[in-house]
Amino acid sequence: MEKCPVCGEEIYQGEENQIVTEYQSEQFHFCSEEHRDEFEESPGEYT
Ligand SMILES: [Zn+2]
Repeated sequence: MEKCPVCGEEIYQGEENQIVTEYQSEQFHFCSEEHRDEFEESPGEYT
C-alpha cells in the first residue's frame, strides 16, 4: 500500500486516479494533485 508522502493517507491503486511523480528515481503516489504539486515544489521536505 502506497501512502501519500504529504499527508500520510493510504493510496488505493485505482486504474484511473493514479497521481504519481518521480523523484530521485523513486516513484511517489499521491492522494490528490494538490499534494503532488506541494511535493514537487519542495520534495526534500517529504523524503
Ligand atoms: Zn495527501
